Amino acid sequence: MTNHLYDTIFSTHENSEKPFLIDDGGKVSYRDFLQRVNQIANALIASGLKTGDRVAVQAQKSKAQLALYVATIKAGGVYLPLNTAYTAHELDYFINNAAASIIVVDAKNEEKVSEIAKREGACLLTLNQDESGSLVSLADQQEESFSAVARGTEDLGAILYTSGTTGRSKGAQLCHRNLISNTEVLKDFWQFTADDVLLHMLPIYHTHGLFVACNLLAFVGGTMIFLPRFDAEAALSWMPKATSMMGVPTFYTRLLAEERFDAALTAHMRLFISGSAPLLAETHKQFEARTGKKILERYGMTETNMSTSNPYDGARIAGTVGVALPGVDVRIADDHGNKLADGEIGIIELKGDNVFTGYWQMPEKTQESFRSDGYFITGDMARIDENGYIVIVGRDKDLIISGGLNVYPKEVEGLIDEIEGVSESAVIAAPHKDFGEAVVAIVVREDTRLTEATITETLQEKLAKFKQPKAVIFVEALPRNTMGKVQKAELRKSYDSLFASL
Ligand code: AMP
Repeated sequence: MTNHLYDTIFSTHENSEKPFLIDDGGKVSYRDFLQRVNQIANALIASGLKTGDRVAVQAQKSKAQLALYVATIKAGGVYLPLNTAYTAHELDYFINNAAASIIVVDAKNEEKVSEIAKREGACLLTLNQDESGSLVSLADQQEESFSAVARGTEDLGAILYTSGTTGRSKGAQLCHRNLISNTEVLKDFWQFTADDVLLHMLPIYHTHGLFVACNLLAFVGGTMIFLPRFDAEAALSWMPKATSMMGVPTFYTRLLAEERFDAALTAHMRLFISGSAPLLAETHKQFEARTGKKILERYGMTETNMSTSNPYDGARIAGTVGVALPGVDVRIADDHGNKLADGEIGIIELKGDNVFTGYWQMPEKTQESFRSDGYFITGDMARIDENGYIVIVGRDKDLIISGGLNVYPKEVEGLIDEIEGVSESAVIAAPHKDFGEAVVAIVVREDTRLTEATITETLQEKLAKFKQPKAVIFVEALPRNTMGKVQKAELRKSYDSLFASL
């Protein structure tokens, strides 16, 4: 019996001296990294991890955190990464919903989370960005060898929570097969090899930075320049050592704002990939004009990993997300799942080994999300253009993507409506040069003494920063249609140029 994900992606490099991770502190070889993985796997077992248990992790990006992900897989656990911006209030829901048996947080949040851990009967460990913490101390005392726990292709490797359109977040279950198949496909489609050095500045609590980037580079035996976050200055100084980069559109707009980002600096770069949010066609063109290179845009989501991509060798067309990846069936369908003719706008539906196995303990939500013939209903609206490429035109849910992170208006509206003096609210996106979209709250108040400051201060305690409104606007009434529904499209039009002067 084997551990499919570990054996396929990581085990081949166990004795390799080649650098896997590089940062300001130096290089970490595959061998040293995987030895650390073994020590952490032993530490997890010593902390009570049983096969199939969930390990919930909210920690600042670090090499040790990446090792914790691999260790969880190798020890037979299910990895549950959480956005570092989530408050203790938000964490409570995820830990309880997933019934995590081990929780790993930054030491500064230990006190806030300890009550939750006690209540849930979970083991609480700490891991800080500087790679200190109780998990690290425990790992230091462990053996450097560990035999992988057997896990089959259908066993869960990770649960990633998506924000819910109505109410609570759903845990997308990803099995070993889902993760392996996508890595194998992307290796060939994007032509990654052991010679690649990827500039990694994405967070590792999300599919993009964790699975697309890390699984792929480990699979091919490449190297990652592993930086804590996006920083234009750091990107410019590390770029000469990289061959490829993955980013959200905001990375590219910020790089273009730097004059030093030019053709000379990027001449040696093999590939720039963008995804997680729409890349403006204008950014794509500006990038080409500046560097002579075309960004390769792809499309995916938490539930499906990567699904479509512009080609490596063929035409990369601005404003499109390319074609279905090998092994992925994509159709643009009407509300009943019937395939539409090319050119017609409908919902993207998908089938393939990349598609998740369902939402954690939510059989009804899972059933609602799949057609009877097995296609997953993404909720993204698109059409097929004259080249056969997919053009995303919007989202049927009112999802806002700010700086590459998803914000569901319903969650923000619910919290605003609870504030004393608020009658009702509508949360929308307004175009923003830096974030792509910015969260804007339109509020009807019953008490005119209620201020913008009261609303923003109240939300600060309850919501991750990226979900907090960048502007609060008071209005007399919300526009509604004859069915009583708030007309968000009209609101979006009214506030379209709110941040235009930035
Ligand atoms: P997440 O689950 O956080 O990865 O978010 C997935 C959502 O991001 C998708 O359902 C799309 O709405 C959006 N998305 C991802 N990639 C793209 C892209 N290249 N263009 C437009 N939207 C995208």
